[in-house]
Amino acid sequence: MTKQRKVVYDVLLEERDHPTAQTIFERAQNELSSVSLATIYNCLDALVSHDVVKQVNIDREPSRYCANLCEHGHFHDQSTGDIIDVKFKPDVDLTQFLDLPQGAVIENLELNIKGFLKQ
Ligand SMILES: [Zn+2]
Repeated sequence: MTKQRKVVYDVLLEERDHPTAQTIFERAQNELSSVSLATIYNCLDALVSHDVVKQVNIDREPSRYCANLCEHGHFHDQSTGDIIDVKFKPDVDLTQFLDLPQGAVIENLELNIKGFLKQ
């Protein structure tokens, strides 16, 4: 892993709030003062393609990034814009809730939930 990728990855581990590339760029400034936003995107692409980081896409908003490698879903709080990791309960087989085509083998399941948190 290059130093730049390491810094980008550390930024993602430090604050697990699913930042955008722009936010990661700003947070990485302390460690990499001369880094460009394009380099940040390159690092993120590499980390995503190596399955170390997940890219989270919501509608047409800028992609967000997640370093949580446990299988999980994302809850998008519509009132704050926060994205919160949602763990799957251990004994639940999510495929039981889906009317999948016959013979379907799931390789990757993404769960995105939109809503808000009642006060
Ligand atoms: Zn996540």
